[in-house]
Amino acid sequence: MFKKILIANRGEIACRVIKTARRMGILTVAVYSDADRDALHVEMADEAIHIGPAPASESYLVAEKIIAACKETGAEAVHPGYGFLSERASFCEALEKEGIVFIGPKPKAILAMGDKIESKKFANAAKVSTVPGYLGVIEDAVHAEKIAGEIGYPVMIKASAGGGGKGMRIAWSESEVRDGFDRARSEAKSSFGDDRVFIEKYVVDPRHIEIQVLADGYGNTVHLGERECSIQRRNQKVAEEAPSPFLDEKTRKAMGEQSVALAKAVDYQSAGTVEFIVDRDRNFYFLEMNTRLQVEHPVTELITGIDLVEQMIRVAAGKKLPFVQKDIKLNGWAIESRLYAEDPYRNFLPSIGRLTRYRPPEEGKQGDVIVRNDTGVYEGAEISMYYDPMIAKLCTWAPDRLAAIDAMAEALDAFVVDGIEHNVPFLSALMKHPRWREGRLSTGFIAEEYPDGFAPSEPDGWQQTALAAIALSASLIETSRRERHADRLRAASSDLRSDWVVRIGKDYVGLSLTEGHVTIPFDMGMNADCSEIQVVTTWRPGEPVWSGTIGGVKVIAQIRPILNGLRIDWQGLSVRTKTFTPRHAELDRLMPVKLPPDTSKLLLCPMPGLVVSISVSEGQEVKAGETLAVVEAMKMENVLRAERDLVVGKVKAKPGESLAVDAVIMEFA
Ligand code: ADP
Ligand code: ADP
Ligand code: MG
Repeated sequence: MFKKILIANRGEIACRVIKTARRMGILTVAVYSDADRDALHVEMADEAIHIGPAPASESYLVAEKIIAACKETGAEAVHPGYGFLSERASFCEALEKEGIVFIGPKPKAILAMGDKIESKKFANAAKVSTVPGYLGVIEDAVHAEKIAGEIGYPVMIKASAGGGGKGMRIAWSESEVRDGFDRARSEAKSSFGDDRVFIEKYVVDPRHIEIQVLADGYGNTVHLGERECSIQRRNQKVAEEAPSPFLDEKTRKAMGEQSVALAKAVDYQSAGTVEFIVDRDRNFYFLEMNTRLQVEHPVTELITGIDLVEQMIRVAAGKKLPFVQKDIKLNGWAIESRLYAEDPYRNFLPSIGRLTRYRPPEEGKQGDVIVRNDTGVYEGAEISMYYDPMIAKLCTWAPDRLAAIDAMAEALDAFVVDGIEHNVPFLSALMKHPRWREGRLSTGFIAEEYPDGFAPSEPDGWQQTALAAIALSASLIETSRRERHADRLRAASSDLRSDWVVRIGKDYVGLSLTEGHVTIPFDMGMNADCSEIQVVTTWRPGEPVWSGTIGGVKVIAQIRPILNGLRIDWQGLSVRTKTFTPRHAELDRLMPVKLPPDTSKLLLCPMPGLVVSISVSEGQEVKAGETLAVVEAMKMENVLRAERDLVVGKVKAKPGESLAVDAVIMEFA
């Protein structure tokens, strides 16, 4: 076995690999860029080597620097994680020349599978069912139009070297093919340094289901069942689960066998994933094979009990797989939520900055539930603009699907992240979504269920009562502490005013206290709408998480002080609350409501980004849907279009300029 390995990656995946290596008694070497001097993976590793400036192209993507770091530290093998150099055959070859082992497949398999066009050809030859389409490089927009016409609309234009959901466009018509082709090609060039694109049939409303395979160097290949990853935004996975609620034993077996056949056909070694889209009738079509560890691999680990990183390391060290297909048993259900630094209320725009507070829920097994959190950050760390906006991957396991979903909802409610915007409210809302809970999924789920974007939902009756109870309990606990009356109040809670009104957003909820005490633990009866509920909590002032029971139901919510009140985040709801006496509530109702400023005559920059181009000039008349400007952020080109017919007024931004979120790009006349 290796004595020392280097992890050519950063963030959560570097930390995750280090954990397993340490458990196996292997020393670890981290590499880091200027932006990652204080990163968690650097702290966790036994040694760390600086490899250059923040941009990945000058650090994490430079093979020579990784090799030099191996030589300097005596690392015998490299685990590439995902992204970065993980699917570069030239990197494996360079390592091999230096006598360093690549912990992953052989270059031949990466070459065959790492490229979408090549891998589709290969899959066809191995009799794996593939998405209908054109198996070659599209030369220009005219060629694209011709091919699309032959395949039949809608089609998908994809970068052959693509990954991470980037560099693909759906086109429903000839004009969209022309438009999309150029954009897909320029995006492919800028994101992957390779502008080859191809076209295939766009399967409407499919599910994304993928098979995990594992192979050693002795011809033993197994599959570890499937993961369903249909909850996607912009073709990028947001939540995943294993197994899939859709597959029957027959389809699982067929997909597993085709995946193993494909892996064998390329002499695959190590862990890999064969991705399929599956239509309503359970027909499945090969999409691509990812020749690396997948982001969502933890859900498979949770239901199989197999550590994929451990197996990758063992296989790379020349060991045989310690199991065969019939030993693999799928047990229970696991869900993964990807926590991203993005604002769900603003069309998921990336958010960067310092994590002023980062308190994940407790990991480990409790009763029938396992919580696992893979992360690369810590409180005080910075989410930078240079890399992926993923903060953490939160996983839960339980014996069945609904229990795993409920455990996830609870874990999300307890996950405290401050300082940047993040998608926890969205993930929490998802866990409550009836269609998700029923398992009626498709890759169009988010677009269909949130056509106008994600907005916080209105609390229902029970949620409103619970929110009022949380707000009132917190305000009573605060007051009692401030007044140092705790002991006296305990003795005579009759001293306490009994009638209160809590404002939740725009609504007012009346609560009257029955009996109990406001000290810690707080334990008080409250009358809401003629029904009495008992409210119990151990919350103390200053704590971000309120946990307790309301009417016997376990509740975990987050509370943050705001001006004259509290903001409560719970189950995907985010409400501003304020506690009043009935008299003050009367007066509050009379206060004028402040209206937000009118921004309808402005084009605002929707995210921090770089202006690529301004497509209009002052005085120009523009029709709804026409392009106004293109802004690049996190390697995506975002086209800003006119929402209605308008006349362009003053243009305030220039191409090449870096803009903050909400900066004015242009005014309309
Ligand atoms: P998975 O299928 O494992 O969920 P994704 O396709 O979402 O993985 O990509 C995994 C990670 O690797 C993401 O962080 C993505 O940004 C990154 N990535 C994928 N392909 C590439 C590539 N060709 N170059 C650089 N980064 C990539
Ligand atoms: P990436 O390398 O970025 O992961 P994939 O080819 O795996 O690219 O596609 C990512 C996602 O895009 C899929 O999970 C699916 O939701 C969607 N997608 C890709 N190809 C098609 C297609 N032909 N029809 C419908 N959806 C597709
Ligand atoms: Mg994919």
